Amino acid sequence: MTRILVTNDDGVFSEGIKLLAAALGELGEVTVVAPDREQSASGHSLTLHRPLRMRQIEERTYSVDGTPTDCVNLAVAWLMKDEPPDLVVSGINFGCNLGEDVTYSGTVSATFEASLLGIPSLALSQEVSEHFSFEPAAGVARTLVERLLQADAPADLLLNVNIPSAPLGGAVVTKLGRRTYSQSVVEKRDPRGRRYFWIAGTPEWSDEDGTDIAAIARGRVSITPLHLDLTDYRGLGSYDWLVDSLGGLADES
Ligand code: MN
Repeated sequence: MTRILVTNDDGVFSEGIKLLAAALGELGEVTVVAPDREQSASGHSLTLHRPLRMRQIEERTYSVDGTPTDCVNLAVAWLMKDEPPDLVVSGINFGCNLGEDVTYSGTVSATFEASLLGIPSLALSQEVSEHFSFEPAAGVARTLVERLLQADAPADLLLNVNIPSAPLGGAVVTKLGRRTYSQSVVEKRDPRGRRYFWIAGTPEWSDEDGTDIAAIARGRVSITPLHLDLTDYRGLGSYDWLVDSLGGLADES
């Protein structure tokens, strides 16, 4: 029996996760463990300083009062301990997760956690426009998961998939693009005269060829393979001068 763990960062009651769970239910036994409320932009955050509560909502559907990373941990290390999932699927997120924004994304961070636990994973995010539907993305999810299960996905597989709101014009494998705007902070005053802030700014993107951003702009499903090795390999040979500067600190004994 194929077991699929489904999670997200928009919350267990969001439309995207319901359609995703239904679409994948045809391919195996789906267990949903997701935050009890919106946790978008929670990043790869793990709750260590307060207890977590898990609540069963319906058959094989659970909410957790924590982050997507908490959900994957509780599911894999406790709920599904004896029969771990073959695949973790996160989404379908309300809004794209493109370029460097994957570092803020709770949707994608759930798949980072799956990678750390040795389980192949897939993050799915839907571009939002005035008229959009999660239905095509649910179809994309079903097809990709079916193929990945047939292909025996490696444990470190992590695919970040974004689905355009335009009619689907095929799919393309991409690299992460780059956001070009600098985040702005809006300063306001509360009724007691104290300062407060909103992190704001309208995203602008570089739609360089071959990126996830360009794919979405052209109405294509974007599939970006990711991994958690953040090492800058180009930098490995570039910092001998820094090492030398610390040479005097070496213990001579
Ligand atoms: Mn979200």
